[in-house]
Amino acid sequence: MTIKEIFTTMEYGKAPESSAVAQQWLADKQHTFDHYINGQWQSPKTKKYFKSTNPANLENIAQVADGEVDDVNSAVKAGEAAQQQWFNLGGHARAKYLYAIARQIQKHARLFSVLESLDNGKPIRESRDIDIPLVARHFYHHAGWAQVMESEFPNFEPLGVVGQIIPWNFPLLMLAWKVAPALAMGNTVVLKPAEFTCATAVLFAQICDEIQLPKGVFNLILGDAKAGQAIVEHQDIAKIAFTGSTDVGRLIRKTTAGTGKKLSLELGGKSAFIVFDDADLDSVVEGIVDAIWFNQGQVCCAGSRLLVQESISEKLICKLKSRMDKLIVGNSLDKCIDMGAVVDQSQLTTIKNMIDIGLTEGATLYQSDNNLPKNGCFYPPTLLTNVEPASTIAQQEIFGPVLVAMTFRTHDEAVQIANNSRYGLAASIWSENINLALDVAPRVKAGAVWINCTNMFDAAAGFGGYRESGFGREGGKEGLYEYMQESWYSKLSIDKPKVVVSKGVEKTKSCSTNHIDRTAKLYIGGKQTRPDNGYSLPVYDINAVQIAEIPDGSRKDIRNAVEAANKASAWSKTTAHNRAQILYFIAENLEARASEFAQRICQLTGQTLAKATAEIDLAVSRIFSSAAWADKFDGQIHSPPQRVVTLAMKEAVGNIAIVAPEEAGFLGMISTIMPAIAMGNRVIFIPSSQSALLATDFYQILNTSDLPGGVINIVTGNRDVLTDTLAKHYDIDGFWYWGTAEGSKQVEFESAATMKRTWVNYGKNFDWFSREQIDSGIFLRKAVEIKNIWVPYGA
Ligand code: NDP
Repeated sequence: MTIKEIFTTMEYGKAPESSAVAQQWLADKQHTFDHYINGQWQSPKTKKYFKSTNPANLENIAQVADGEVDDVNSAVKAGEAAQQQWFNLGGHARAKYLYAIARQIQKHARLFSVLESLDNGKPIRESRDIDIPLVARHFYHHAGWAQVMESEFPNFEPLGVVGQIIPWNFPLLMLAWKVAPALAMGNTVVLKPAEFTCATAVLFAQICDEIQLPKGVFNLILGDAKAGQAIVEHQDIAKIAFTGSTDVGRLIRKTTAGTGKKLSLELGGKSAFIVFDDADLDSVVEGIVDAIWFNQGQVCCAGSRLLVQESISEKLICKLKSRMDKLIVGNSLDKCIDMGAVVDQSQLTTIKNMIDIGLTEGATLYQSDNNLPKNGCFYPPTLLTNVEPASTIAQQEIFGPVLVAMTFRTHDEAVQIANNSRYGLAASIWSENINLALDVAPRVKAGAVWINCTNMFDAAAGFGGYRESGFGREGGKEGLYEYMQESWYSKLSIDKPKVVVSKGVEKTKSCSTNHIDRTAKLYIGGKQTRPDNGYSLPVYDINAVQIAEIPDGSRKDIRNAVEAANKASAWSKTTAHNRAQILYFIAENLEARASEFAQRICQLTGQTLAKATAEIDLAVSRIFSSAAWADKFDGQIHSPPQRVVTLAMKEAVGNIAIVAPEEAGFLGMISTIMPAIAMGNRVIFIPSSQSALLATDFYQILNTSDLPGGVINIVTGNRDVLTDTLAKHYDIDGFWYWGTAEGSKQVEFESAATMKRTWVNYGKNFDWFSREQIDSGIFLRKAVEIKNIWVPYGA
């Protein structure tokens, strides 16, 4: 092209990055990627390999080990052998290893970037300027967490061997997000990258080798779904961390149900990009480019649903189309391109199929003529307008460079459409009115909210979703809890809980057993209600004398309780100060009736009055603790390297179902419900059969304590039946279960459909009188979700 022509067209010339070093590295590896197990490169036991290609030109990159169960077994064994010693090295020693990894990544940054782009098809500008710097940042940041682990988390221990399965869209970055916190907290790792994109994971293993990371601390297994499945099913793996599709995430939830494996899932998304009428539209257009055409739209948190205020829609769409016309799609190693290749032919087919569905549903297509390269997996930047919020393309993840646009009129409608999704990963809000943006941000159900920016990430700010976008966070302090557990947890017994002490002269002497003829009711929406089916269950005292009846609640009562909880959503928005006051009031009223409740405990359990009184005292103290924490268990402000502040806000999970510990009686009820409501959740509570009558006594206290109706709902009845209904219910966001191992499995399995956050005891016995266990802060942590709101600054 002549200079004159360049001046006429204003076109960029090509600026190709050399792939020579990367090609040499591949040649040195003889274009063969093997497993890295116990500090050694190992060919697959089956000797089978599959091909990996560069999606930009379909040329072969390497043959990749096709790992199977035997390879995974070796890797887990190596991880197990190394784990205790790795933890025992101490935080400082681990910090030095993580620091060395970070340094090596920086030293080899260019090689990493080129390899990533060759392997995945993403533009070199993105791998060079975003992926790899973030990877290094992640290891530096977590070197720091390793350093301070002993002082910051003195009562925690690592989990053991962690299985990590990652996707192809950000191969090395996803590796860093998983490996860095796991190693920092003293775990060892078995990691499987996606079959399409193994190259940078292999180079990472080489770096681990070069810095002499102890053998078995990081193990790399290559392969496809078979290898992933073998990791998920391995009984000696303590935790699975997965990023990928919601379907596979759901499968993993079901497979691991009841096994006791800790699980974090980063799944799909359909994130809203909301543009208000006062937004700076030129910035918005650039924001959209970053939101949906970054990494060819293969980003779980891509702003793939554009919601524009109606009054500016036409103008914005017009600007956007003209910007789309200028986007350059091309070879990933050309520094002048805006978009590279889609990862694989299969993904290209998925995208095309989704477009066909959209067109059939009546959407209008706009694609500019971007001169797509002939060979390779390329797809143009695409805009679909005339899209209905309920249509398939507005609801399902496309995972390609496809933006669907819709309009809204009012702010409330914007929030409504944004939340009209089964996902909840991210959102982007554009307005020059910071008050408006900060009003909308907490109302959008998403783990990351970017104000006047998009797709920003940092190691200090946790990332993760709500709803079917999965659970758990990666990055930040919250992400560390995914890789450790309270030291007392592994010591819990799994013997049958000691429930009722059924005889004893002393007990009957010291307790009165006055027979009360009364039929308790359910407590739903702040009112006492009869069970829908009209049946009751008898309650007996310690001497097997029937003293009352409780309702035999059913599916319909659960439905009503959940509806009541939904109606009480204002509780989640009320101030922490107000919530604290109400909790103090509950404590005050309970204390006033302490002797009556103590008598009831005696009557039902045969305990001594002294013990029963101590239980009530502790219950009152626990309510005080929850009240105290209500306005102190606050979020944080992070200062990532970008010119932004990140507000890490602790939000209520939503509706939490609590199935009470059978052995824990009244204290168990208080210890579970109070932190949940202190953090703004609404609760549907199923009491243990032993303490059901106490629960129905307790609502008289709630009625006199100014607690809004629907915040606590109590449904008595058959625990297993009610548990099953709650686990399947779409409007239950969190599920805390104390019961049998079998019941725990059922809760985890059934909750996979909606990706509820579950917390179950696998049949283990908590000590409800133990301050170390119950007052450790674990309840508060389980009662909140962390949302990071990114606010840029600077004029
Ligand atoms: P998958 O969920 O299928 O794969 C993610 C990872 O899990 C890969 O390493 C994969 O192995 C592995 N895997 C696949 N099946 C199993 C299994 N049964 N048990 C254990 N591990 C398994 O995502 P895909 O890569 O196939 O992409 C499909 C869709 O998922 C995309 O179109 C997109 O919608 C979504 N996706 C979402 C991502 C996100 O970040 N949220 C990232 C990537 C994809 P392998 O690929 O090697 O076979």
